[in-house]
Amino acid sequence: MTPSLSPEEALRYHRQMILPQIGDEGQKILQRSRVFLAGLGGLGSISAYYLAAAGIGQLRAVDRDRVDLGNLNRQLLHFTEDIGKEKTESAKTKLENLNPHCRVEAVCETIHGHNGDTLVGDAHLIVDGTDNLKTRKILNRVSIKKGIPFIFGGVDGLTGMTTTFIPGKTPCFECLFPEGTLDKGPPGVLGPLPGMIGALQALSAINFLLGIKSGLLAGRMLYIDGATMNFRTIQMGKNDRCRVCGADY
Ligand SMILES: [Zn+2]
Repeated sequence: MTPSLSPEEALRYHRQMILPQIGDEGQKILQRSRVFLAGLGGLGSISAYYLAAAGIGQLRAVDRDRVDLGNLNRQLLHFTEDIGKEKTESAKTKLENLNPHCRVEAVCETIHGHNGDTLVGDAHLIVDGTDNLKTRKILNRVSIKKGIPFIFGGVDGLTGMTTTFIPGKTPCFECLFPEGTLDKGPPGVLGPLPGMIGALQALSAINFLLGIKSGLLAGRMLYIDGATMNFRTIQMGKNDRCRVCGADY
């Protein structure tokens, strides 16, 4: 059954609903959408804010960590008073305050190979807010197995990148990162970089859910260089010998 929007919701989302790409129907699509978010750090803080504010119906966010003072230059979901709390608890409070219409399921767990399937469940989308290769590879396998698009984001120093992996249509994470090339220990991070990437991931998610194909970074990686303010996109090809999405596997 298609849910209806209350007068309060119609007012809350008015400025986006007057966009021809969204309208009443688009808003109802967002209301019915379920998004899985891995990580509530610098990327996940911002994507979660925008997804909740836009009226995504259900957001399941997973993070095992507690808020640390050293997180606060970029992880804007968490405040000084939250230091020591579970990030999931801190995030749920903020997001539900921001938009009580968004059902936030906050799960304080580590994502492993054996629980990834269950945690992702029947989400329409996987949004990557993690900071390590291992978890991304687990999420990528779940994405391919279940046919759920995976919106990747990453930052390193003053550079950031994002793309959307669509199973069967684009390269997958493993195609691009077959070996351990991303993890080099904690890089320096300036808040606006994960902020921009997290916002772009939320935009990619909304574009996907609304079927705005021109707004997808499918088969394209967007790179941002904060030191030069250069933004560029690079076309990416599938790896036929990929261990996850290749024909032989
Ligand atoms: Zn692949």
